Amino acid sequence: MSSSDDSQCKGSDCELARISAEVNNCRKCPLYLSRKKTVPGEGNPKAEVMLIGEAPGRVEDETGRPFVGAAGKLLDELLREIGVNRGDLYITNVVKCRPPNNRDPTEEEINSCKPYLIRQIAAVRPKKIITLGRHSTRVILNLGGLGFSELTKVRGKVFRVNVAGVNVEVYPTYHPAAALYNPPVRSVIKEDLARALSINKGGSSILDYLNG
Ligand code: URA
Ligand code: SF4
Repeated sequence: MSSSDDSQCKGSDCELARISAEVNNCRKCPLYLSRKKTVPGEGNPKAEVMLIGEAPGRVEDETGRPFVGAAGKLLDELLREIGVNRGDLYITNVVKCRPPNNRDPTEEEINSCKPYLIRQIAAVRPKKIITLGRHSTRVILNLGGLGFSELTKVRGKVFRVNVAGVNVEVYPTYHPAAALYNPPVRSVIKEDLARALSINKGGSSILDYLNG
């Protein structure tokens, strides 16, 4: 791991590459012991929208890429259906290494890994963050100075907060894995994604409608 601060690194692509390189060598929490590959994140370094999941699963751990297993296939399907190109987004997770047997990440693991996420947000400077699932939602709302109790209370709403020095709109939704076990959740996530990713038409903001 390098703590170097070489300031030749200009631009979000360079900073993101540096973060990924640090993640690849990271041993800040015990998840490094069981990971096969780190999963730092991928996508457009200047994405307007960032998608944040929870943690890599088995296929992610094997490939080093976020959302490429069953939940990822479902996410890809939903994005395709609403006409969004995955490559236009930046996709990452709260923790960058797979928790054994896909257990929930612990508070310590989340806190150890959080600086990478904060730096990714600061580098990409997205306008919107879509949080997938309760862990991601809690972490982002807390970073934005808001409390969090349960996902069902916040999903479908929009929160304007400052995270990592960036003013963002946060759109919490369910984790796509939930739709694998509970098919009706699929259309809810699809609607949430469509709303978050829709381009404002005309004068009034969709936020006025949603928060109205
Ligand atoms: N679930 C997540 O939260 N993230 C992934 O990358 C894959 C599955
Ligand atoms: Fe480091 Fe995050 Fe992996 Fe833990 S989960 S070892 S903090 S990169």
